[in-house]
Amino acid sequence: MKELDGQVALVTGGSRGIGLAIAQELGRAGAKVAVVGRNGEAAESAAASLEGAGHRGYACDVSDAEAAKTVIGKVEEELGPIEILVNNAGITKDNIFIRMKEEQWDDVLAVNLKGAFNMTRNLARGMMKRRSGVILNITSVVGIVGNAGQVNYAASKAGLIGFTKSLAKELASRGIRCNAIAPGFIKTDMTAELPEATLEELQARIPLGRFGDPEDVGGLVRFLAGPAARYITGQVVAVDGGMAI
Ligand code: NAP
Repeated sequence: MKELDGQVALVTGGSRGIGLAIAQELGRAGAKVAVVGRNGEAAESAAASLEGAGHRGYACDVSDAEAAKTVIGKVEEELGPIEILVNNAGITKDNIFIRMKEEQWDDVLAVNLKGAFNMTRNLARGMMKRRSGVILNITSVVGIVGNAGQVNYAASKAGLIGFTKSLAKELASRGIRCNAIAPGFIKTDMTAELPEATLEELQARIPLGRFGDPEDVGGLVRFLAGPAARYITGQVVAVDGGMAI
């Protein structure tokens, strides 16, 4: 018997990077995982690569409210009621503040913050009726400490922290837990393009002396989604090698 046996989990942005490691870990813990991304084929092949049975991939842009509603209906019809939601899909469109275009601001807020709203609001009612559920939002250390060149991204991630804490207060009496996870620098496509000098400078600021792997986040999600975390809600847990100390 595994701790998430038979539960249905939905991971947005589960087709690669941190989301894929989260999906892998939830699959390993016994959950049936719905992997969601804009590219449906990539989501399906990610789902097929997971340990365990019953996983499926779905195409959906989380910033599109109608598409979010549709995909949740489809997942619940095919896999069953969603017990665990991981709002992980996120993008960056960096620029220094005075050059930042309205479109860069809007796009990042639409995916990172409104995307979480779109997905969560279509699930919350069902979780409330069942009086159980887990909602996990992937924020960032940047949402806590800020970062030059990322006002849009940092605002979206700080917004997710406020969203998490408020939702945790609203839904706790219905048996639903809601927490945020704040990764530091994790090696994925999102961070692959940075110049060598920036990487060296960043690494020097990490007390544990290395960049994180997606699996470092996956393990924390598995813990927070499971019964061992039953008394934890409204928290922001950093997984950053000590970067934000
Ligand atoms: P990534 O490698 O770029 O992967 C992003 C994932 O999100 C992909 O599966 C992508 O699939 C999906 N996605 C992007 N836009 C989407 C949309 N509109 N609708 C649905 N899915 C969408 O990114 P990552 O580094 O794994 O980051 C995952 C999360 O962790 C993000 O929220 C990011 O902000 C956060 N984070 C990352 C780091 C880091 O150092 N990497 C640090 C702190 C926080 P499609 O392209 O097919 O849509």
